[in-house]
Amino acid sequence: MSKITYLDYNATTPIDPNVLDVMLPYFKEKYANPSSKYRFAMDISADVEKARAVIANCLGVEHSDEIVFTGSATESVNHAIRGTLKTYPEKNHIITTVVEHPAVLDTCKDLERDGYKVTFLKVNNNGELDENELKTSITEHTAIISIMHANNETGVVFPIGKLSKLAKKVNPEVLFHTDATQSVGKINIDLNSDEYKDIDFLSMSGHKVYAPKGIGILFSRKGTRLRKFITGGHHEFNKRAGTLNVPLILGLAKAFELLKEELASGKQDKLAKLRTKIETEITKRIPYININGLKAQRLSNTTNISFDCIEGESILFQLDKMGFCISSGSACTSGSLEPSHVLRAMHVPITSAHSSLRISLGRFTKEEEVDDFISSLPTIISRLREISPFWDKKTNKPNDKAIQYSCQN
Ligand code: PLP
Repeated sequence: MSKITYLDYNATTPIDPNVLDVMLPYFKEKYANPSSKYRFAMDISADVEKARAVIANCLGVEHSDEIVFTGSATESVNHAIRGTLKTYPEKNHIITTVVEHPAVLDTCKDLERDGYKVTFLKVNNNGELDENELKTSITEHTAIISIMHANNETGVVFPIGKLSKLAKKVNPEVLFHTDATQSVGKINIDLNSDEYKDIDFLSMSGHKVYAPKGIGILFSRKGTRLRKFITGGHHEFNKRAGTLNVPLILGLAKAFELLKEELASGKQDKLAKLRTKIETEITKRIPYININGLKAQRLSNTTNISFDCIEGESILFQLDKMGFCISSGSACTSGSLEPSHVLRAMHVPITSAHSSLRISLGRFTKEEEVDDFISSLPTIISRLREISPFWDKKTNKPNDKAIQYSCQN
């Protein structure tokens, strides 16, 4: 394969070689089903429980049976939301936000079709929520509130600790779920701390944290009732049926250990410096750009930039030819020609929302790769603007048509 420059860590991460090493024996010699009752299997079951305890410890979870292994964050989200509604059939209201990942958004829209009432909280131009809107949306019928921790497209971080406290103040019975798929490993989360103690459920996926695809976790706080979502055997403390995916569980635990070390090592500050370098240099070298969510609290590794008057897809195509792996919007919605629902919710004009790039850095990003990107992008943008019907080549500015289009939205 020709050289690639991977700047799309929010889509997925490579498996850390140390994670792979831990998994390999469980693909080869340690293959027994951990539910079987002979020593060969019970030893593996003990390894799974040690892995669960490691993950619990990294998230500040007091009882390791509060962690259930799932197949993905999407499954965890579905379990938390749909399971809660099944547990409390007398309640029919869900609160979420307009900028959630489709895992949450589409689940809520599907439930809306089934007759549930869903409130979608709006965001401002910076991508931030209005706490007052949350407060006034909660009713006695609200079963669950699902608010993401960090946005996959812009990196904007929601103060979930504060929001969950606020929610419980209004209605102590309401349950609070957070989709922490993008924040785990980038922000220290201690679920036993005062800040996070009102979070009832948390979802995440292994492949965003240098573990393989096909494994996720659902944290559900002790004492919180939750009907089973995947029915079958009595696995996972009778909370999620299905034979345990032992190699991936062991790999995920190793990934969590590495994340803990990485968080303590100041890696996020290093990524923030690289991110700032990208934003400063691109701002200097390319006119008419907008950094989406710049004024909000953001993950250190993510930047989302709009380039006026051109199509994000054509920028990606040119970058791809040079080996750069970057997304426009999220990996789950790229492929659709609709502009990002997150940027539209932030009132980004349609012409800019169509031209956004999400650059996300991670463990193996090198400064040379960032420099390569910074030096390659300006030529691509100016070539595309030259052939854009919205760009005035003489003045090097958007033309009247561009202004008219963006104002229509
Ligand atoms: N939530 C967020 C914020 C995400 O970024 C993603 C994946 O991009 C998901 C949920 C879904 O994760 P998975 O596809 O691993 O289930």
